[in-house]
Amino acid sequence: MSDHYQTLGVDRNASADEIKKVYRKLAREMHPDVNPDPKAQERFKEITAAYEVLSDPQKRSSYDRGGDNFGGFGGGFGGFSDIMDAFFGGGGSPRGPRPRMRQGQDALIRTTIDLHEACFGTDREIGVETAVICTKCGGDGCAPGTSPKTCDICRGRGEIQQVTRSFIGQVMTSRPCASCQGFGTVIPSVCSECSGDGRVRARRTIDVKIPAGVETGNRMQLSGQGEVGAGGGPAGDLYVEIIVEEHEFLVREGDDLHLSVSTPMTAAALGTKMNVESLDGEIEIEIKAGTQSGHVIPIKGKGMTKLRGGGRGDLFAHINVEIPTKLSKKQEELLRQFADERGDNSKSTQVKKSSEGGIFGKFRDAFKG
Ligand SMILES: [Zn+2]
Ligand SMILES: [Zn+2]
Repeated sequence: MSDHYQTLGVDRNASADEIKKVYRKLAREMHPDVNPDPKAQERFKEITAAYEVLSDPQKRSSYDRGGDNFGGFGGGFGGFSDIMDAFFGGGGSPRGPRPRMRQGQDALIRTTIDLHEACFGTDREIGVETAVICTKCGGDGCAPGTSPKTCDICRGRGEIQQVTRSFIGQVMTSRPCASCQGFGTVIPSVCSECSGDGRVRARRTIDVKIPAGVETGNRMQLSGQGEVGAGGGPAGDLYVEIIVEEHEFLVREGDDLHLSVSTPMTAAALGTKMNVESLDGEIEIEIKAGTQSGHVIPIKGKGMTKLRGGGRGDLFAHINVEIPTKLSKKQEELLRQFADERGDNSKSTQVKKSSEGGIFGKFRDAFKG
């Protein structure tokens, strides 16, 4: 048989407060909601069984004298099953006292990051306000040095049974005990810090690692960082929802980014090199001589980081050829000469089908690339 003191890692002379503290700490680490490891579940059962004996003065002294008639499990009210119920949010059983310790609620907060942070990941300090365990009473709601007492009215059952006579004979009914609100125990001296709730509201800052590749609506789950439950029950989870701000120039489409680039008519005709904005700083692209408006230049691997691994998407520069809207006398003259040279005047109204499938074809090709 395992030694209950060893199981909890406490001294044989440990005080009730000490044992309670150690148990709560261990239970929070081993609780199946927090720690999915099957070994942790086994350990959770062990420490709970040990605590069940050592937290009860009668059982503890009997155990110290060498008798462990309780087998660790079962026992009376306030025994193992009740603690398990408290942890697993049970309470499905209509009979018996309801546990004081309840599973805490999940909490949700939102945080805004920019596109650069979404691409490369970032560390964020986030302020959260949740219910945390009351440090004064350790969660049980009792003033220091005191503990819950079995309710005298219901004798720990949490419910009152009544026998009433009716025309079909005697009927047994039960209702929650008003004296203890169905808990089966009463707190004789309430903790001044939390008024017996076992938890207090507190603001704290947590460090959150936001992975590369997130997008708006992604939620990160932080186990056990949510609301502590009533009676100091295990905390729920904290969800951090990501909101990614729109970028000034870059438009996201899944893992790819799109950028609109304007180039003068002459540069598009003659060809040029230019720098464009990207998440990796400025990148030089080449505009080949004869580039049409709507042409798309793919820049491999300069899109968003793929959240589930596998590198990065691409950046697509959409070329917009600017036609001058105001011409000086000289410019107009030169353009007319240019048009004459090309013989443009005679074919200006001709409709010609592009052999390359037009701008949409090019757009499509760039995506395929
Ligand atoms: Zn308290
Ligand atoms: Zn009662």
